[in-house]
Amino acid sequence: MMYLDYSATTPVNNEVLEAFTKFNQDYFANPNSTHELGLLTKLQIDKATLDIKKTLGIDAFEVIYTSGATESNNLALKGYALGNQHLGKHIISTPYEHSSVTTCLNYLEKCGFEVDILDINESGLIDLTELEKLIRSDTILVSIALINSEVGIKQNLEKITNILKKHPHVRFHSDMTQAIGKQKVDLSNVDLVSFTAHKIYGLKGIGVLLRRKNLNLTPVVHGGKSTSIFRGGTPPAPLIYSLAIALKLAYEDFDKKLKYIQTLYDYLCNDLLPQIECAHINYKYGVPQIVNVSFTEIYAGKLLKELSKRHIIISTQTACSSEASYSATVKRITFSDKLAKTSVRISISHLTQKKELDELIIAIKEILHENS
Ligand code: PLP
Repeated sequence: MMYLDYSATTPVNNEVLEAFTKFNQDYFANPNSTHELGLLTKLQIDKATLDIKKTLGIDAFEVIYTSGATESNNLALKGYALGNQHLGKHIISTPYEHSSVTTCLNYLEKCGFEVDILDINESGLIDLTELEKLIRSDTILVSIALINSEVGIKQNLEKITNILKKHPHVRFHSDMTQAIGKQKVDLSNVDLVSFTAHKIYGLKGIGVLLRRKNLNLTPVVHGGKSTSIFRGGTPPAPLIYSLAIALKLAYEDFDKKLKYIQTLYDYLCNDLLPQIECAHINYKYGVPQIVNVSFTEIYAGKLLKELSKRHIIISTQTACSSEASYSATVKRITFSDKLAKTSVRISISHLTQKKELDELIIAIKEILHENS
């Protein structure tokens, strides 16, 4: 099988899996228990939390453990909005957020919040002048993903935070699910940050919301004592431990890994895709892990199905293989329905081999020939 869908999820790193298994055997106690094993387990969680802070170079944040980035986004948006509605009910976001952000925003609108969605230009970047214009005295939150998962658009964090710094009543949440562990990120001017372990060779079922200390949230998951007053439930100690290791490993040899991914990206975009006449790269300024490309002679769903028969895995924006697949983000940046209907995402990692990309292109050429 050839896996080229690393932005959807990643295989678990062996070291992470072994550490997780061993931890389950050695520290299976409830970390809230006051007996010896409970206290030892709690010590391990505290150590993992310190390791996470050290890896990310942060001190001013509480690390809140969640079940994944979906829950982190729910806690950030609903938790901040509902907990601070006395300060205002206006939120600003973008049109390319993950569904776990957009559906929360839809819910908040039903609860009486007003949500403004920024425009993005052909380069996929938000309009900073519009952002500044939209900020009002009752704006409480701005939520912008640092990296869009479908096309790989990376926003200019510094320019965004420079604007927000002038409006201290506005808090900034960023869904950094496609950034943490894949890019070096300066978190010094962000208030809430979501990410998840399974995008960085960790396990599924554990995510993080970083909360700048002093910032009030209403819990989304109410319950018994946990590691945070903002999220109830028995802390999943083995998953927490495994997340700290996955994060540390993600930043080990980081520059070397990123440089290698960039080499693969350049090879795919400059040497391989131009060999296919109907290939159109939809976005050229993004992160090297994501190549969004339309093969205009075949619907995205059909191409996915045919590749899948050859055990090659890539994705569309929805991970659904319907021929009616349509990318709103591709439409926004290309203004083309055809490109939006035929776009697929190839996502690569430091585990990808150059020869896999060669084989992918051979397979696509064959499929296009068979369907011509
Ligand atoms: N945010 C972004 C940008 C994502 O790419 C994803 C995963 O697809 C999520 C949030 C949701 O993450 P999780 O699967 O951990 O809930």
